[in-house]
Amino acid sequence: MLADIDTWVLDLDNTLYPAGSALAEQLTHGILSTLAQYYATDLAGARRIQSELVAAHGTSLRGAMVTGTIDPQDFLGFERRIDYSVIAPDPAMVAALAALPGRRYVYTNGSAYHAEQVLERLGLTDRIDGVFDILAGELIPKPYAESLDAFLDRFGVDPVRAAMFDDLEVNLALPHERGMTTVWVSAGTPYELLAERRWRTTDLPGFVRANI
Ligand SMILES: [Mg+2]
Repeated sequence: MLADIDTWVLDLDNTLYPAGSALAEQLTHGILSTLAQYYATDLAGARRIQSELVAAHGTSLRGAMVTGTIDPQDFLGFERRIDYSVIAPDPAMVAALAALPGRRYVYTNGSAYHAEQVLERLGLTDRIDGVFDILAGELIPKPYAESLDAFLDRFGVDPVRAAMFDDLEVNLALPHERGMTTVWVSAGTPYELLAERRWRTTDLPGFVRANI
C-alpha cells in the first residue's frame, strides 16, 4: 500500500494550503478582470464568458487562446499583482512533505510562477522536486488524459508506485484508474479509506503522520 509509494503527486491550490484562503479571492478577481478587459465587458459578463470557456475548453486560459488571440503570458499577467503574503508559512505541511519518502511533484492547473510563489510562502520550495504547470501541459488541464499522460511522461512516473493528493475528486478518477493511490483532500472525517487505494482526508499533514 502506501509503503510501496515512491512518488508523491501534489495538487497546489486548496490542497497545500486551505480552501477559502484570501488567495482564492484574488485569483478569481484576477481572472475575471483579465477576461473583462479582453472581451470588453463587465465582471458579470466576464463570469458568464468564464463559465462558457471552462465548459468548452477546460480552463479560461485555453478557451481564450483557442477562441481568440490572447498570449498566455499576457493572460497570466494578473498573477504578478497578487499579494502572496496572505499565505502563511506552514511548518506542519513542511514536516509532512519532508517525511514522504521519494520524489515529490506539484501537479497544478495553475502556472509555475504561481506555484513557486505559494511554495515559497509555505516554506516548501526545497521539498519539491518539480512543478508541472498548465503551460507544461500545453494548456490542457486536469482531469484530461492528455494532461495526466504528459505529467507521467515528463517525470517518468510509474502510476502504481505513485500517490496523488487533490482537493477535487474529479481530478483523481483517472489517476486511480491508471493504478495510482489517491487521496482526496476534502471535508469529512480526519482520514478514511473509501475503497482500495482511494483515501480521503481533511488534514494532509495528519494523514501523512498517521500513515507514513
Ligand atoms: Mg486544487
